[in-house]
Amino acid sequence: MAQLIRNKFPFPKSARCIVCDSLQARALYSYSYNDKNSDILQCSSCGHLFIHPIPLISLDSRTMDTLDDAEFFGSRTSQFLHEKIVINREIRNVKKLINSTEPTLLDIGCGTGWTTLIWQKSGFSVTGLEPSEERAELGAEKYGINILQGHIEQFPHGEKYDVIILRHVLEHIADPSGVLNTVKTFLKDRGVLVIVIPNINSIGRYLFKEHWQWVLPWHLHFYHPKTLMRLVTKIGLKKLKLYQMPSPLWYPDSLIRMVGTDTKLSKFLNEKAQLASQLLFTPVMLLGLLLNLNDNMTLIAGIEEFR
Ligand SMILES: [Zn+2]
Repeated sequence: MAQLIRNKFPFPKSARCIVCDSLQARALYSYSYNDKNSDILQCSSCGHLFIHPIPLISLDSRTMDTLDDAEFFGSRTSQFLHEKIVINREIRNVKKLINSTEPTLLDIGCGTGWTTLIWQKSGFSVTGLEPSEERAELGAEKYGINILQGHIEQFPHGEKYDVIILRHVLEHIADPSGVLNTVKTFLKDRGVLVIVIPNINSIGRYLFKEHWQWVLPWHLHFYHPKTLMRLVTKIGLKKLKLYQMPSPLWYPDSLIRMVGTDTKLSKFLNEKAQLASQLLFTPVMLLGLLLNLNDNMTLIAGIEEFR
């Protein structure tokens, strides 16, 4: 059983921040998972949020095998909107920044590959990398995508790509600098890295607080646009574009936790989660857009010395 509790009085803790190397932090939340205790800490120097100690240590336990949430719980409407609004915008932005006529793309943590397929249809020669055997197999069968099964830490060096995607991956990585340094060696000189990641500075987090979908114990780091920028700059990547996108996917789940599971509202949300996230949460999304506090952010970066 997992539980996240907000500390009324955050207390000091010592742990190294992966963004600024400071050792001083404050415990904002206490988290217990399988009888082990962790804290969600905020670095006292740069403000970065992270869980410490990490609840799931081995690489294998980091794999997420469920197929339903990999494809928006089967909602065609959500997939359609995601393709038209999110993925197509990424593709337009990337095409302006690369100069290859036959671009190659590596999609790290591609899941079932349904978004990788959209890039393929847009003219990219795609390769997927996915740690979950179930997701990798389904992607290869259903979409015919070339998906290698494994973790980025185990990926063989060699080929270089015009585009590398880390979609909802970096927040799962204990040592993001190490992984980004590795990923950088897979990029062509003028290639671009696309990082899509939850934004801790979001309307969803401020609204739902400890009931927000922190995606624990899998998410290890919680990035603010400023801490993400500082991290990528540290390893020699240059921001080419940074923008935010709303994401109501986890709102029904967060609201259920907030109001309690036995209420009429939570029963409605359980049955009509897709409808609720599309209608009930539209005002929240609009407020997020207005205040620039959206639940997801996209960073497109290139290698500093070539940009
Ligand atoms: Zn820090």
